[in-house]
Amino acid sequence: MAEGLDKKIEQLEGLYKTIPKTQCTKTTCADWCCSRLPTAVNADGLFISLPLIYSIEFLNIKKFITENFQKKDIEEFYDYNSKRPLCSFKDPKSPGCLIYPVRPFTCRVFGRCVPPVFFGMEYPPEAANEIFCPHLKIMDKDKEKVFQDRFPVYWTELANLSASVSVFTIEQLDAIHRVSDVHDIFITGWKEFALLTSATPLWLEKNFASFWKAHGNLL
Ligand code: SF4
Ligand code: SF4
Repeated sequence: MAEGLDKKIEQLEGLYKTIPKTQCTKTTCADWCCSRLPTAVNADGLFISLPLIYSIEFLNIKKFITENFQKKDIEEFYDYNSKRPLCSFKDPKSPGCLIYPVRPFTCRVFGRCVPPVFFGMEYPPEAANEIFCPHLKIMDKDKEKVFQDRFPVYWTELANLSASVSVFTIEQLDAIHRVSDVHDIFITGWKEFALLTSATPLWLEKNFASFWKAHGNLL
């Protein structure tokens, strides 16, 4: 891995460490956290895979699965045709997460009482209720005040980290620029990142514009 990317991933891990640990106090929830976030499906049945992640998080998850999973599992994670509303990393055999050590920021803050700022945008106060769960217990209470104050800024920090390391090669970005006014992609779902970053420049030149026209506005 490039030295620059190593450093950015260290910074991402540092950011994650500042989030106070939590514990679910209810065992009968059937994983509401991972399975009940509404997936926005449009009239054509198109949707972005959830959870939404930043591109720096995509690179971190990609590194983790490359080091920890068999080829067959990795192919399944990357298979765009197996996209479904439920997260690709939800363990089908248990309530667990297959990538728990590198789960994205949104998963780490789900269930908490937070200010209504998501992906750097301010929402009406009730928007924060959608992710709140009264059964989530904060473990590191001494870190909570600092976390709450920093919450609106985390999104900017994630965006800045993402802007500093592209998930695409120069050839892929050139192809994207030839057919669209997209500069780079910093937020989307795992499957969308997987599809686009695995594509050849020729495929992107042929398909990116229509793909992004259909999917970009679902974000
Ligand atoms: S924190 Fe709440 S939503 Fe999440 S698994 Fe526990 S009970 Fe379910
Ligand atoms: S990444 Fe893990 S914690 Fe997050 S939604 Fe998927 S399975 Fe759940």
